[in-house]
Amino acid sequence: MRTTDVVIVGAGVMGCSIAYHLAIQGTDVVVLDRLPQVGAGSTGLCSGGVRHQFSHPLNVQLSIESIRKLANFEDEIGQEIEFHRDGYLFLLTDNELVENYRDAVDMQQKLGVESRIVSVEEITQLTPPLALDDVIAAAYCPHDGVVDPHGVTSGYARAARKAGVQIVLDTDVTAVITNRDQVAGVETAKEMFSAPIIVNAAGPWAATIGEMAGLSVPVQPFPRYVWVTRGFENAPSDWRMVVDAASSFYFHREGEGVLMGMGAPDEVSSFDDHVDWSFLDRLIEVGTRRYPALADASIQTAWAGLYEVTPDHNPILGVAPNLDGYFMATGFSGHGFMHGPIVGEIIADQILGRQPRIDVSAFGLNRFSRTDLRTEQNVV
Ligand SMILES: Cc1cc2nc3c(=O)[nH]c(=O)nc-3n(C[C@H](O)[C@H](O)[C@H](O)COP(=O)(O)OP(=O)(O)OC[C@H]3O[C@@H](n4cnc5c(N)ncnc54)[C@H](O)[C@@H]3O)c2cc1C
Repeated sequence: MRTTDVVIVGAGVMGCSIAYHLAIQGTDVVVLDRLPQVGAGSTGLCSGGVRHQFSHPLNVQLSIESIRKLANFEDEIGQEIEFHRDGYLFLLTDNELVENYRDAVDMQQKLGVESRIVSVEEITQLTPPLALDDVIAAAYCPHDGVVDPHGVTSGYARAARKAGVQIVLDTDVTAVITNRDQVAGVETAKEMFSAPIIVNAAGPWAATIGEMAGLSVPVQPFPRYVWVTRGFENAPSDWRMVVDAASSFYFHREGEGVLMGMGAPDEVSSFDDHVDWSFLDRLIEVGTRRYPALADASIQTAWAGLYEVTPDHNPILGVAPNLDGYFMATGFSGHGFMHGPIVGEIIADQILGRQPRIDVSAFGLNRFSRTDLRTEQNVV
């Protein structure tokens, strides 16, 4: 049996960021992941978008601090992350959407974010040629952008290892050991790890790691597909993320073409991570209506990843109510990559008994026993 201060289950952006932020303060940390590489779960399959534009003020606060940390990442961590700060633009097609996004923009501005509602004329200056006949306005923030998820995760992993963290790959956590109401360690297929603190950073698999400790962690996996095209005429010249808010069709530049995806109202929870090519027809129908030039694009590659969704589309952060030493950083509902930097710092502070600079108690596990959940509306 190996003994350490903290065991983190999951070597995605969350696990690696938490490990780094703990290790630079002298904590002994082991990170376990069943996959052969760091960031090979949802993190490595995500679209890399980072944005301030949320409807829940706590998500906006997390974005403000995370994006600050990303802006400083190369100096702090010494890793190139290809941070393209060309903004996010949400196209709005009905009055209710405009009102909801206007309320969110008002709240974001009060928190210091330079988001704003823009006219159709301004949209035409910010995008490649789009069909905008049904668009009323857009919500825009020039300080949002797109970042390389591999760069961020491998950067944190390398810096964590340098500070003494052991990242043990190809290692499946099979049980969480508890002693009355206190965690005591984990079992893996290979060996046991004894620790008074366990962090569940298992992304879409977080419910299983919760069950191992007798906890109900309401995180469900939902498959999402990403398609990348080859270059085509009228492909975007910059990296601005454009989202059609009503359909959730989104795209941003990737190579000479675009990276694009879309949710579906009838999607069902599953761990199936194969690309459903029949969904491409639905995406192309919506996508070419909005962005006619896409009709000339050919698909270069595609992949599937899993969103990790909670009932209110907000993450689950902090210690479990009735199990000392069991921390969670999961349930980011499809927008967790961007919050990795600040969540790593916050969870490290909580573990070390320090007051984090953002109070995330509203995102505690115990909120699900209430009926007045505040749902995040701006999910893509
Ligand atoms: C298609 C797609 C697009 C996305 N786009 C964006 C975006 O633009 N912006 C954004 O911010 N977010 C985006 N996301 C969401 C983002 O990817 C996730 O919120 C984020 O990566 C979660 O990170 P994580 O470290 O919590 O989870 P993960 O990266 O999934 O890491 C969890 C790790 O836990 C490991 N694990 C699980 N169970 C066990 C076990 N029993 N034993 C050992 N290891 C275990 C897994 O192997 C995995 O490596 C997207 C997601 C998808 C699928």
